[in-house]
Amino acid sequence: MDATALFKLTYGLFIASTQWEDNRCGCVINTAAQVTDTPCRMSVTMQKRNFTTELVLKKKSLTISVLSLSCPLDVITHFGYQSGRDTDKFASVPFQTDSLGNPYLKDHMVAYMSLKVTDVIDLDTHYLFLCDVVEAENLDSGKPMTYGDYRALKSGAAAPAAPAQAHQPVVKWVCPVCHYVYDGEVPFEELPDDYVCPICKKPKSIFQKITE
Ligand code: FE
Repeated sequence: MDATALFKLTYGLFIASTQWEDNRCGCVINTAAQVTDTPCRMSVTMQKRNFTTELVLKKKSLTISVLSLSCPLDVITHFGYQSGRDTDKFASVPFQTDSLGNPYLKDHMVAYMSLKVTDVIDLDTHYLFLCDVVEAENLDSGKPMTYGDYRALKSGAAAPAAPAQAHQPVVKWVCPVCHYVYDGEVPFEELPDDYVCPICKKPKSIFQKITE
């Protein structure tokens, strides 16, 4: 099997959010999809280790905010880089609350959906949530960001530094699973050992150093 064939599958990019009691949290996912039209249902797959996933299991509902193509990278980094166990990600971000009491983002998003979880399937490393869509709204007329767009954006963001360093090798740290390219201010080597890929949550140790 050539696993790279699976890289040809296209995905969107979303913030999955929920609130259980006093804890609210959201994380970046690329695994939300509509699975049936009538009734309107979606599937959402989330890493078990995510704090947001733990809260969704308890609350049995969540929101999906669909990122706009114009969404700044720092919004993605904010929700993808840090854990909700340590910080309230919504404390510094404008958000709205749906009828189920879950937060969703409005700025830089093209739409959101409110989901009620009807079935949970244990996939070892992940949970697959089957959900009824109970609410949905368009927020912006822009285009949604695909995961491919996001990767292109990441590459483009690194470009301005290139002319001045044209004769110097450019070192990148890349997640081999989802192709996320680290571009934070902190040198990759100085990141804490518990750093994980903001997209697929794989550990820092599997990142590969690429020199161009
Ligand atoms: Fe990754």
